[in-house]
Amino acid sequence: MDSEQLRENAHKMVDFIADYYKSIENFPVLSQVEPGYLRELLPDSAPNQPETLQNVLDDVQAKILPGVTHWQSPSYFAYYPSNSSVAGFLGEMLSAGINMVGFSWITSPAATELEMIVLDWLGKLLKLPEDFLSTGQGGGVIQGTASEAVLVVLLAARDRVLRKLGKNALEKLVVYASDQTHSALQKACQIGGIHPENCKLLKTDSSTNYALSPDLLSKAISDDISTGLVPFFLCATVGTTSSTAVDPLLSLGKIAKNNGIWFHVDAAYAGSACICPEYRCYIDGVEESDSFNMNAHKWFLTNFDCSALWVKWQFLPVENENWGGILLEFEVKVPFSNEASIALHMHDRNALIQSLSTNPEFLKNKASQANMVVDYKDWQIPLGRRFRSLKLWMVLRLYGLENLQCYIRNHINLAKYFEGLVAADSRFEGCKYCLSCQLAHLTWDKPLLGLVVVTPRIFSLVCFRLLPPNNNEDHGNNLNHDLLDAVNSTGKIFISHTVLSGKYILRFAVGAPLTEERHVTAAWKVLQDEASALLGSL
Ligand code: PLP
Repeated sequence: MDSEQLRENAHKMVDFIADYYKSIENFPVLSQVEPGYLRELLPDSAPNQPETLQNVLDDVQAKILPGVTHWQSPSYFAYYPSNSSVAGFLGEMLSAGINMVGFSWITSPAATELEMIVLDWLGKLLKLPEDFLSTGQGGGVIQGTASEAVLVVLLAARDRVLRKLGKNALEKLVVYASDQTHSALQKACQIGGIHPENCKLLKTDSSTNYALSPDLLSKAISDDISTGLVPFFLCATVGTTSSTAVDPLLSLGKIAKNNGIWFHVDAAYAGSACICPEYRCYIDGVEESDSFNMNAHKWFLTNFDCSALWVKWQFLPVENENWGGILLEFEVKVPFSNEASIALHMHDRNALIQSLSTNPEFLKNKASQANMVVDYKDWQIPLGRRFRSLKLWMVLRLYGLENLQCYIRNHINLAKYFEGLVAADSRFEGCKYCLSCQLAHLTWDKPLLGLVVVTPRIFSLVCFRLLPPNNNEDHGNNLNHDLLDAVNSTGKIFISHTVLSGKYILRFAVGAPLTEERHVTAAWKVLQDEASALLGSL
């Protein structure tokens, strides 16, 4: 790389990106192009001769940006957010600039060590138990996505049990989760060779605000054990993708522990909120889990991709191991090489490594051979890995905890504001009893039936829908589908949908870094106008 060329061109690029952010509100939030639009605009083959950067940027402006859905727009309220920030961007830039591939400690010691430190920092902000931190013999790793995080721990749990029962037991292994769990789990099961019928997505409904019922789980486990199946993995979610349901970690964790099941907690979106003391309660019970993930690239100002995964470190005495019964744990803090570890069966962080490590000759080196270092290649699917911790480090340092907490609280307040707007319009069904909903959530096993209308807002997602005229539910789903299409076609806002208990529900997820109250007010106006037009045309 020629440094003067870099200086000149990178300044131009930064100007281009800064201008993009300055004018981001002028673009339709949801790209309005038709499939295949780009093939018509670009040549069939790559150029023989170099072009100027300006030519390329002109094409980006004229041909690429129209095909971009603007996730950073302040009027983006779809799915879940995918935050960028100056800090996150600078970290990405630095990582791209250094451009090293840190798969083993030796390939860039700073990359491995910074990742361990930064994940310990983040783990402490989340008040994760010491067992999850590298200082407490557990540890964190940055995966590209939550899907990869779930996959690697599922593979670790699978192999842990297959080492004990033999490879033929694979077809008997059972995974549990609620039917609200992200499809990443099903994909992990497919990749992990779990029999499709043994990925048990237990039914949820509005009586638990779509959280997984411990009673249902216990029953499913005992039914499966009685037919010779082997329960081995439970995935709970804090902040489900459809509606931000929170599974009761404490009760679920105890069931998992009593049955020797690996317990994973997926807090991909909502985990960020748990750095605020008032939201930390939603991951109470995480101490019962074996692994935990949250996406810093969703709602934590860290540019995509940055999914944090922690695994707990435990030692199990081999002779007392009982996969079908109570799992005995010892917290023995010994270094890797200590003789004591030979007498113990290690799992969790080590289970991950046992499942995913390879040791080819061309990667051997003194530090790895002596077990003195972490080699993150053994904690993930690919070999190569980026210096992702830089951007998370930048975010943590350039914001500081207090600003990050304010950031989360601001979005939650904006979501409350939107919730109030929905509640004030009798044509819509939202969550009209905020306080009751909060109570209903906190005592999730005793919901205040009849008060929760769609489903409670807990974090910054509001679930709502337009009521069908004359309460004719035959039209309710089509009506809301049409409303979604209509508002997104305006290009003024972008929202998404889900289906809960057979009802088509609109999702309004606040979380883009540039969103202010005026954007929420304007979004509500678009929704109201399109609703009036639809209802008027019926
Ligand atoms: N888990 C939950 C709860 C999610 O909400 C999502 C995405 O929204 C995922 C997992 C998948 O995330 P990723 O795209 O990082 O794999």
